[in-house]
Amino acid sequence: MSTVALSLGSNLGDRLHLIRKAVFLIRSAGLVVLASSDVFETSPWGMEDQPRFLNACVLAETSLSPEELLDLLKGMEDAIGRTPEKRWGPRTIDIDILFYDGLSIRSDRLTVPHREMARRTFVLLPLAQVAPEWRHPETGLTPEEMFRLLPTAEAGGILRICTL
Ligand code: ATP
Ligand code: CA
Ligand code: CA
Repeated sequence: MSTVALSLGSNLGDRLHLIRKAVFLIRSAGLVVLASSDVFETSPWGMEDQPRFLNACVLAETSLSPEELLDLLKGMEDAIGRTPEKRWGPRTIDIDILFYDGLSIRSDRLTVPHREMARRTFVLLPLAQVAPEWRHPETGLTPEEMFRLLPTAEAGGILRICTL
């Protein structure tokens, strides 16, 4: 069994419902959810002219390989109704693999830990709730330590909405 952290994001439609539906599908697929973060409302990143996102994280156990997990998550995005769209643009659901145990993976399809993790408060804040002790295999930093290294301005515009 491996421990993975998944990031969930939505900024189209009934965002909270869509994020909860994703967690339901994750459990239904046999992953054991060990912890779930609060849900945060966050400012769009990358492409700023779009609705605000809801973001959350879950920590889960799985026997799937990283590639199998990616395929499963993409299938879930399709099932929830994600249509092809711009990278960093509006979407009903986005499910990313933040980490897979302490592995570093770089393939055409997969970069783990998630490439942009250390630059995104909307990832680091919920991740710090579900995996405070985890350390990035390349930098040795915990989510909170990565968060503290970000410019203070980045921490603005994030609202805790509710529990997942
Ligand atoms: P970002 O990756 O910057 O958060 P995004 O989530 O909007 O952007 P997508 O369009 O959802 O990007 O995914 C593009 C591709 O990224 C996927 O098809 C997948 O193969 C690849 N990918 C690489 N690493 C990961 C990862 N850790 N989790 C999910 N997808 C990944
Ligand atoms: Ca993403
Ligand atoms: Ca994605």
